[in-house]
Amino acid sequence: MATRVRVILCVGLILVLTGVVKSAFRGKSHGRGRDDPVLQYVVNNSVREHPVLTKLRLRTLEDRWAIMLVGSEQAQFMANLIKLINATKAIEIGMYTGYNALSMALAMPDNGRVVACEIEETYVNIAKPFFNEAGVENKFDIRQQTALKTLDALIAAGESGTYDFVFIDADKLNYDNYYEKSLELIRTGGIIAIDNVLWGGKVVNPAPDDITAQFLDTLNRKLHQDQRIDLSLLTLSDGLTIAIKR
Ligand code: CA
Repeated sequence: MATRVRVILCVGLILVLTGVVKSAFRGKSHGRGRDDPVLQYVVNNSVREHPVLTKLRLRTLEDRWAIMLVGSEQAQFMANLIKLINATKAIEIGMYTGYNALSMALAMPDNGRVVACEIEETYVNIAKPFFNEAGVENKFDIRQQTALKTLDALIAAGESGTYDFVFIDADKLNYDNYYEKSLELIRTGGIIAIDNVLWGGKVVNPAPDDITAQFLDTLNRKLHQDQRIDLSLLTLSDGLTIAIKR
């Protein structure tokens, strides 16, 4: 086989494998395809997107992991929850390029604060100029390290029971850890929103080799029995659990 062909095959294989790994760790939208006419109808007839959010969404669509972008209708739903509970303190676990974090910041009053957990510098660098352009950069506290480290630091700083809203959308195998620490950090009546809990429907009957689907299924069953919260598991996007702390 010619060296060039081998190189092309190798690069292709690496791209496919990293894609598989990345989607398992960071989560992608497995829900209704973005080109579905019903979803397009929903977006066209309900989404009111801030102009800077539109710009950030279009910028994010240029990224090769744009599949991790939170849908505009989902971001708006969570922004409405934030307004509904008068949230001023929020955490996003897995900010990616900042679309949903910006949406949350815009939904909060001037004293609002978003602790945004994102380990990858590339994404933070994409997000920041848009936060500035929207004039809400002062609302952000970006923590560029593992989210577990950040959540532990917030707990150690005595911030337990003070957060209003947490959005969990990072590596799925840590979801239960994120959930437990988030539950510690939010106040009674505060909301934890958990993304990708249906995992493209694979949680219904997880394959023996699908660890992510098994983990998410276990978490869904745990939350169903968890008397510390009230909950709804919405079929919005790829499945969104709304857990309200009792
Ligand atoms: Ca997601």
